[in-house]
Amino acid sequence: MISAARAMLIIVGIAFCAEFLTMLVLMYFGYIGRSIGLLLADAGLLSLLIAPPIYWLVAVPIKREYDMLQYAERRADELGEQAITDPLTGTRNRRGITISTLEAMAHAERYGHPLSVAMIDVDHFKDVNDTHGHKAGDRVLQGVAAILTETLRLPDKIGRYGGEEFLLVMPETGLNETSKITERIRQQVSESEFDIGDRKVTLTISIGAALFEKGEDLEQLVSRADRALYRAKASGRNSVVTS
Ligand code: GH3
Ligand code: MG
Ligand code: MG
Repeated sequence: MISAARAMLIIVGIAFCAEFLTMLVLMYFGYIGRSIGLLLADAGLLSLLIAPPIYWLVAVPIKREYDMLQYAERRADELGEQAITDPLTGTRNRRGITISTLEAMAHAERYGHPLSVAMIDVDHFKDVNDTHGHKAGDRVLQGVAAILTETLRLPDKIGRYGGEEFLLVMPETGLNETSKITERIRQQVSESEFDIGDRKVTLTISIGAALFEKGEDLEQLVSRADRALYRAKASGRNSVVTS
């Protein structure tokens, strides 16, 4: 957007040119005397006189309207972002990660590219809450989410699917690569210390991953990842199972 001084200068310039041309035409047809100096003085005076009211009556309201529109657009973007963001962890919320999964599934279905999803669940998370309090539990969730976000590759998406469960969506990723990625995440979390205020705690996660199969719907894909997660829990937790 142009500055006030620049807008005023433009208005002065336009008024000056318009008045000068008008006078020139009138002079040409002999309606007024033939003095260029007088012409310039007339156009200059008029443009200086009418520029301020034009600026206040036209340019200022237009700018105000433009600023309000910009603000409304920004606000709509922010609200749209809020609607798909989990306020605690800053990752996508369930709605957001569901949308991302559906988009990735549509792409994989159409182009026949591989797509993997992984359900990640904090082990014995209830114990963290019971031992250190709900606030400490919240900080642990933020810490886990930070690790997950850091390990994301560009097309991957992460979101909080439920209480202490995260869903990781990995487009263009087959099961071999998924095993490596999820194993790396599992290891990183198990080696981290989570600051809960007056002390630090360690914890582990279990992961169940599934490769998207053509024709499958969201529920089928997520429940296969869930079943793999269940097997990871049953095998003693702190492990990855792919299906
Ligand atoms: P498992 O290893 O089998 O997953 O055991 P778990 O204790 O992690 O699982 P369980 O389902 O028994 O407990 C999950 C707990 O997560 C219970 C619930 O109070 C807690 N929880 C869910 N959402 C939040 C949250 O936003 N903040 C905190 N602090 N706790 C939460
Ligand atoms: Mg758990
Ligand atoms: Mg759980």
